[in-house]
Amino acid sequence: MRNIVILGSGPAGLTAGIYAARAGFAPLLVEGMKSGGQLTQTSDVENYPGFAEPVSGPALMDAMRRQAERCGVEFMMDEVQLVDFSGDVKKLDTMMNGTLEAKAVIVCTGAEARWTGLPGEAKYRSRGISACATCDGAFFRGADVAVIGGGDTAAGDALYLARMCRSVTLVHRRDALRASKVMADRVLSTENVKVAWNSVVDEFLGDGKRLSGLRLKSTADGSLRELAVAGAFVAIGHSPNTALFRGIPGFLDEAGYVVVERGRTPVKGVFAAGDCADPYYKQAVVAAGSGASAALEAEKCLA
Ligand SMILES: Cc1cc2nc3c(=O)[nH]c(=O)nc-3n(C[C@H](O)[C@H](O)[C@H](O)COP(=O)(O)OP(=O)(O)OC[C@H]3O[C@@H](n4cnc5c(N)ncnc54)[C@H](O)[C@@H]3O)c2cc1C
Repeated sequence: MRNIVILGSGPAGLTAGIYAARAGFAPLLVEGMKSGGQLTQTSDVENYPGFAEPVSGPALMDAMRRQAERCGVEFMMDEVQLVDFSGDVKKLDTMMNGTLEAKAVIVCTGAEARWTGLPGEAKYRSRGISACATCDGAFFRGADVAVIGGGDTAAGDALYLARMCRSVTLVHRRDALRASKVMADRVLSTENVKVAWNSVVDEFLGDGKRLSGLRLKSTADGSLRELAVAGAFVAIGHSPNTALFRGIPGFLDEAGYVVVERGRTPVKGVFAAGDCADPYYKQAVVAAGSGASAALEAEKCLA
C-alpha cells in the first residue's frame, strides 16, 4: 500500500512529488509514456522563473526530475490504464507493473494541443508553428504572424500577439467569429489584426528549415493565395488526458477537464493538478504551482 501515487511526470506531477516527498509520504510517481511531459517538446522556455537566460524544455524537466529524485520521489516508468477510486483504497492498474494500491492519488496527466494535421505542420512545429501564444509569442516580436481558429482562444491569442507583433492575421473558416462578442469586437477594432474570413490553411509553407508562410484556401470559391508569415499559432483547443476517468460520476467537466477545488477532486482521496484540470492557463509555472497545492491538500487528507 502506497501513501501517495502520482500520475504524470510533467511540471505538476514532479512538483507534487517534491512536496509529498519532503513531507515524508514517500510518493510513487508513474511517469506515463511522455516522460517529462509537454515541455520536453520545446527548445526555449523564457517564462519559467529562476532562469535568467532561456532554458531548453528538456533541460528544465531534467532539473525538476533530479530535484524530485533527490527529495526521495520513487519513479516508475509505466502508464496507468484503469482506475478504481470507489473505495478508501485507490486501485490503479498499470500496463507493466500490475495493480498499485494507494491511500491518495494525485492526477497530473496533462493535456495535448489539438493540431490541424495539415501538410507542413509537423515539419515546422517549433520552427515557426506553435500552439501557445503566451509561451512563444515573444519570439516573434515585430514579425507578421497568423492565428488559426475563430473561438475565444484564437481571439485571445490574436490580441496578445498584436501587442508585440507587427501584424496578426486571424485565419477563420467562416464569415463571423465564434468567439464571444466582447472578444470578437476587440479583435475587429485592433488596428494590426486582420481577419482572413472564409479561409482555411491548405498548407504550411517553408524553406525546409523554418516556416515562411501559409497557403490559404477560400471556403467560398476554393481559390488559393499565399500569406507570408514568420509564425503561425494553431488555436483550435486542447484535449485533456483524462479518458481514463470518464466513468467516474462528477469527476470531469463537459470539456473533459478534472473538476478541482484547491487541488481536491469530487472523489475523497483523489487530487488533481496541472493542465488536466486547467482549461484556462496551460502554463508550466501554473501547473507546478497547482501540483504543490494538490500535494499540500493530499498531505492534509492523509495526516
Ligand atoms: C511545444 C510546447 C511548448 C510550450 N512552451 C511553454 C513555455 O514556454 N512556457 C510555459 O509555461 N508553458 C509552455 N508549454 C505548456 C506546458 O508545457 C504545460 O502547461 C505543462 O507541461 C503542463 O504540465 P502538466 O504537468 O500539467 O502536464 P504535462 O506536461 O502534459 O505532463 C503530463 C504527464 O502525464 C503523463 N501521463 C499521461 N497519461 C498518463 C497515465 N495514464 N498514466 C501515467 N502518466 C500519464 C505523461 O506521460 C506526462 O508525463 C508548452 C507546451 C508545448 C506543447
